Amino acid sequence: MSYSSRVLEELKTRYAHEPEFIQAASEVLQTIQPALDAHPEYEQASLLERLVEPERVVMFRVPWIDDEGKAQVNRGFRVEYNSAIGPYKGGLRFNPTVTLGMLKFLGFEQIFKNALTTLPMGGGKGGSDFDPKGKSNNEIMRFCQSFMTELSRHIGPDTDVPAGDLGVGGREIGYMFGQYKRLRNEWSGVLTGKGLTFGGSLARTEATGYGLVYFVDEYLTCHDDVMWGKTVVVHGSGNVAIYAVQKVTELGGKVIAVSDTKGWVEDQDGIDYQVLEDIYAKKRSGNDKGVSLALYVDARPDAVWHEGDGRGVWQLPCDIALPCARENTLLLEDAQALVANGCKIVGEGANMPTTLEATKYLQEHGVAFFPGKAANAGGVAVSGLEMSQNAGHISWTFEEVDERLQNIMKSIYHAADDAARDYATEGDYVAGANIAGFLKVAEAMMAQGIV
Ligand code: NAP
Repeated sequence: MSYSSRVLEELKTRYAHEPEFIQAASEVLQTIQPALDAHPEYEQASLLERLVEPERVVMFRVPWIDDEGKAQVNRGFRVEYNSAIGPYKGGLRFNPTVTLGMLKFLGFEQIFKNALTTLPMGGGKGGSDFDPKGKSNNEIMRFCQSFMTELSRHIGPDTDVPAGDLGVGGREIGYMFGQYKRLRNEWSGVLTGKGLTFGGSLARTEATGYGLVYFVDEYLTCHDDVMWGKTVVVHGSGNVAIYAVQKVTELGGKVIAVSDTKGWVEDQDGIDYQVLEDIYAKKRSGNDKGVSLALYVDARPDAVWHEGDGRGVWQLPCDIALPCARENTLLLEDAQALVANGCKIVGEGANMPTTLEATKYLQEHGVAFFPGKAANAGGVAVSGLEMSQNAGHISWTFEEVDERLQNIMKSIYHAADDAARDYATEGDYVAGANIAGFLKVAEAMMAQGIV
């Protein structure tokens, strides 16, 4: 049995109760054996056994008082996974589905994603099973303050720098930043995704969606093709999706469908990202009950709203599919529909939206498949640029940040493409991204001894 298979089998036994983590670890471990064959010294140093275990996991209770005066308790987590190449870096997710296993999946992915950005950032992830949906502004603030009261003991600008993720946007980051500053009596770049008036970076909001499209565009350029004239479907209509829609449209492509948890909307004239921005703002205004993407047709009467499962978007004929909602939302039958309808490119804006079976099917049927850890790294890359600006007490213009983002996404594409060619199969961007990210982290871990 190969080294990577042995470690994976051990993980499956030890962490059988963490299916998302096993899924993410399988995807990585099943592709990096060629890199391990080239470095037999890694097995002697038990490098994989160390890499798959977080350096530290912090779990804590988060008590807070709701608007009725009743005390509520949620669970808080921070998984500090790997700091070989820089401080732990990764988002905070507030969602009722959050478990330690889910955060381990996200933190593990983050190690390789951050390595690919070329910036010095380790991997981490955190969050809580708190559900911000339907909570008042004051409840959100009290929760964020309580969460940060404990988290502040474990993070710092050179130790661990969290950011947002599902359920954590600019408002939540602002409340947590305020509490950290108050507790520590220090202003530092301890969180990214901050507001523009207190150290946030221009273009951070747009970065993941733009970065995804820059990645796809670099692939097209390298294959003598262009975005202009391409038909695109997007799953999700949140932060990543909105700015992917904007950038596709700017480059001359047409997005014909987007979705949310209530259903999906089809607009053959091209989805208007500004309408999505308005709906998103309403959803996050603190009283989001009843607001859904169905509102889109009020602004664009020729569009059609389909209530139900947003995965309906995968049934439409398209050239490019961009899953930008959540993990495991592009299943085998969706992949089959996409291939049958002529889709040639799938780029993951979300983290692990495509199941392992669906990924395999797409790759076997000639679809260029770009995994999230490469294609959605634009967000954390600009977070890294936010850290640099904070450390240097400077701010760059939108154009400066956007240009750096474009260069980073191009370099990630080429790192994955080159590693696929050198170690695996040309065009296998899953193996390429995993191997390129892994080799960088592995080299740093080897240089630092058995720690
Ligand atoms: P977001 O703003 O909260 O948007 C999430 C979107 O997905 C919303 O349209 C939401 O619909 C929909 N959605 C949520 N749960 C779903 C489900 N179970 N099935 C179908 N649709 C669902 O989040 P985001 O920031 O765009 O992040 C989306 C994904 O990208 C996540 O996997 C995140 O980890 C990943 N990511 C984000 C960034 C970033 O910078 N934001 C960076 C890298 C990766 P409702 O509005 O109805 O809830």
